[in-house]
Amino acid sequence: MIERSGGRATAAADIHTVRGDWGPITYPQVVGHEIVGRVAQVGSAVTKHQVGDRVGVGCESGSCGECEQCKKGQEVYCLKGNLQTYNGVDADGTITQGGYSQTTVVNEDFVLKVPESLDPARVAPLLCAGVTLYSPLKHWKAGPGTKVAVIGMGGLGHVGVKIAHAMGAEVTVLSRTLSKQDDGLAFGADRYYATADPATFEKLAGTFDLILNTVSAGLDHSQYVNLLAVDGTLVILGAPTAPISVDAMSLVAFRRSIAGSANGGIPDTQEMLDFCAEHSILPETELISASQINDAYERVLASDVRYRFVIDAKTFA
Ligand code: ZN
Repeated sequence: MIERSGGRATAAADIHTVRGDWGPITYPQVVGHEIVGRVAQVGSAVTKHQVGDRVGVGCESGSCGECEQCKKGQEVYCLKGNLQTYNGVDADGTITQGGYSQTTVVNEDFVLKVPESLDPARVAPLLCAGVTLYSPLKHWKAGPGTKVAVIGMGGLGHVGVKIAHAMGAEVTVLSRTLSKQDDGLAFGADRYYATADPATFEKLAGTFDLILNTVSAGLDHSQYVNLLAVDGTLVILGAPTAPISVDAMSLVAFRRSIAGSANGGIPDTQEMLDFCAEHSILPETELISASQINDAYERVLASDVRYRFVIDAKTFA
């Protein structure tokens, strides 16, 4: 099927892939895995989507469909390896190409229904950032009575604050400084602390049921493990390149866990979109045209964006 026109968000992953930071890639490579548009054509066997439907595509656009994880709707954890929407190797050996384009062709099983109530100029980042936060919040049962902390107030973190708040959890932001405190509280955080202040780690020791780490840069994970309550879990969502190190006794003594989580399966992604529509949750975005992409990349790397860029796909012409 083919879809076209709408928004495509730009994420740090796009930049690192384009520049080969995560290993050699085969050029030409078109990135973009937060894609929103309308269905323009469907194949004869397509049953889930119709021409004109507002739809989206996220990080994965294929998987084996037969393994235990795929059968559970956890395609992202396909035991044979999922197919990335871009820079993946498709069954016929071709390299997949992403959403910085006028049209894209995707298997209907990996196409999400995007509720019409969600602004097309802002919704795209939910396809990766949104589900990357929604999925662990659901898995570790965030909700009324639970205390959740979000490390980092960037493209991922700010969406996590909104979703965790809508789920009914008590939400704390742990950011390096207080520079985005007003935003964080407006997005639904109950508390906001600067991690540059050592007093934060004393005051919050033993507090949280769940901590979501959205920061890929090196952190002292031991410091954050000590903020977990008994049975609490620290979930790593970014991708630090260096191994992490913690004091094992700080886990053992309080039955704490450290976990990782990727974005989310297709059913969870659809559930997240419907949840965001129900609670009027959208990422904070800045709409740009294709000609501004290079400048936008520099601004992302300089953390000079609140909080995600969306590229108007009409400008790819
Ligand atoms: Zn599979």
